[in-house]
Amino acid sequence: MDTKDVGFENLCKDLGVANLNGWPLIESTVYFTDEGVRYLRSPGVILLSKPNTNIENIRGYLEGYGEDFLGYLDDDTRILTSGEALVKFAGQTCYCSFGPKRTFNNRVAEYLLNLKKSGHGSVFEHANYSFLLYGISRATTHEFIRHRAGFAYSQQSTRYVDELSLRFVERYEFQTDDTLHQKFIERINRAYKSYLELKEYLNEGDFSFLKVEEGPHAKTDRKKRINQLSRMCLPHELEAPIVVTGNLRAWRHFIEMRSHPSADIEIRRLAISIFACLKTIEPNFFSDYRILIFEDGHYSLTTDFKKV
Ligand SMILES: Cc1cc2nc3c(=O)[nH]c(=O)nc-3n(C[C@H](O)[C@H](O)[C@H](O)COP(=O)(O)OP(=O)(O)OC[C@H]3O[C@@H](n4cnc5c(N)ncnc54)[C@H](O)[C@@H]3O)c2cc1C
Repeated sequence: MDTKDVGFENLCKDLGVANLNGWPLIESTVYFTDEGVRYLRSPGVILLSKPNTNIENIRGYLEGYGEDFLGYLDDDTRILTSGEALVKFAGQTCYCSFGPKRTFNNRVAEYLLNLKKSGHGSVFEHANYSFLLYGISRATTHEFIRHRAGFAYSQQSTRYVDELSLRFVERYEFQTDDTLHQKFIERINRAYKSYLELKEYLNEGDFSFLKVEEGPHAKTDRKKRINQLSRMCLPHELEAPIVVTGNLRAWRHFIEMRSHPSADIEIRRLAISIFACLKTIEPNFFSDYRILIFEDGHYSLTTDFKKV
């Protein structure tokens, strides 16, 4: 399939990236079926946390090497993002590069490119970014959590949470055809109804497997037992909100693997959306990525420095 290069601004416009004072987000609308079942049609991506770096307190540490190194603190850090300040300082610690011959902050872009070129990716692990991700299916979060190194996850529980918070996700492909869309609507109405029916049946019955120990948690324990059975009739299309924290090296690897044309379209759209939010606040960390658009309208990314 043919590809074309796309500018970053066009990508952000297409995805609807908002940047509220350095906190990017992409919101996702909630829709309702005629029967009142909630569903979403695109990934919601909200940045919750990013590095907050202060290197002022290293004065005593630098002094221990002699007066020469104190000039390091005169270099204006306001021209760096907090993530850049952290990664650059960590990298310069490796070679004790604090003297007059060091790379100054106004050359941070070049410094970071050199890290990528030399594969010195461990330095990128210091910068962590947390996102709330929603409007994504349980199929996609199952693929996501296969990424182990450098990630932490907290996902909405289908044992604790009940029908009040059940929402579904309509895949992009189903949105492009009236019949597929209609079948999706029928499917989630049916799934929601089956869930309620199963819960009701379990609630009213006298099942030994639902008996729980008396005590302060008895009510919650019984509710969880009923929910864990009722959820079995829910499809992969169930929405699975998740908070993900990852370090910059892990995010880069995830984005490269999951924006690839061979990845599932849903996680691919998510990876591109996360990239757009991260690059909005950290352009230099992602300056090596080329954005491509395919004939089918989907995006992908490519870089000479894969898996740094
Ligand atoms: C297009 C596509 C199709 C896929 N199809 C399948 C499939 O059919 N079946 C399936 O099971 N999975 C499938 N996967 C998932 C894939 O196999 C990986 O599990 C997933 O992408 C996580 O990537 P990662 O292994 O690089 O791990 P990450 O956790 O992201 O780790 C990053 C890197 O750290 C290193 N690392 C992490 N953990 C270890 C470790 N324990 N030991 C040594 N090194 C480690 C590796 O170098 C690894 O690449 C697919 C992924 C993609 C992108």
